[in-house]
Amino acid sequence: MHASAADRLLHHYRQHARELPWRSRPGELPTDPYRVWLSEVMLQQTTVAAVAPRYARFLERWPTVEALAAAPEEAVFAEWAGLGYYARARNLHACAREVARLGGFPTTEAELRKLPGVGAYTAAAVAAIAFGADCVAVDTNVERVIARLFALSGKADVPARAAAMLPVGSGGGDFTQALMDLGATICRPKAPDCPSCPLRDGCQAYALGTPEAFPARPIKRQRPHRFGIAWWCRQGDEVRLVRRPARGLLGGMAALPGPEWNEARPAVQPLAAVRHIFTHFSLDLLVVEAAADDGWWQPLDRLDEAGLPTLYRRAVDAALAAERQPRLAA
Ligand code: SF4
Repeated sequence: MHASAADRLLHHYRQHARELPWRSRPGELPTDPYRVWLSEVMLQQTTVAAVAPRYARFLERWPTVEALAAAPEEAVFAEWAGLGYYARARNLHACAREVARLGGFPTTEAELRKLPGVGAYTAAAVAAIAFGADCVAVDTNVERVIARLFALSGKADVPARAAAMLPVGSGGGDFTQALMDLGATICRPKAPDCPSCPLRDGCQAYALGTPEAFPARPIKRQRPHRFGIAWWCRQGDEVRLVRRPARGLLGGMAALPGPEWNEARPAVQPLAAVRHIFTHFSLDLLVVEAAADDGWWQPLDRLDEAGLPTLYRRAVDAALAAERQPRLAA
């Protein structure tokens, strides 16, 4: 069943592959591993629709890994603004520098894994898609398809099952991308389109009549909540910004000044407030008028150049809107 399932999957992929800016045509290896790597890093936790225009802009600015390696870190952070998960931007830059130092990307999964910020998934994706290695990169789409095919409740066995499906010597690039596409377009989290699926014959979840039950959903934990203060220090058409410490959440990004966040709501009279959901906690950021002398004055009409992450951009917008309105109650 495995070999024929792979054949059917690849046949379907050749006819229905999604056209994406970082993709080669089915059967062809990309000419540039930099593009594959960049797209894979950008796509972690971010949708294809959100990534596509940012990917194009990034490549226009830094068309090669050497160009990216030579860019100032702050410029990379600013270009990354709004994509979230800012540790990725730091790792991206560190990795580009290492690749430039090595004289190019390593070609094996094991060597790619040694690069800064390159985990198991990215290493497998670049090895398979850019270099045609016999490995499968398992993202959430691939995980779901494989879990359903074999009616697996947990995810632990997914990588081994996926690897066992890959015909030896065929290269994992198209196979990985075919599984990703199937998960994104047919084997969707909700309401999978099983009648259109090339893997329907032999799919255990389909045979059971309960495809959506696989993989089992993890029990959701309550997210902790925190509060933060952002000082709103404005002078004419400029606002005071700082750079956050290099390590930690939003590390190295531009921000409004303010103390560390914690669990207790501060007793302040905010000008405005924004709620933001991070992966591990939610945050109410209270924007409070105050004097501040750290950092620099940023013209409000050139905020884009500062590269504020979404949280602080929303805080600035909320403060500007509130200045035109009656004050919030504490
Ligand atoms: S038959 Fe349905 S559940 Fe099985 S892989 Fe295809 S779309 Fe997913």
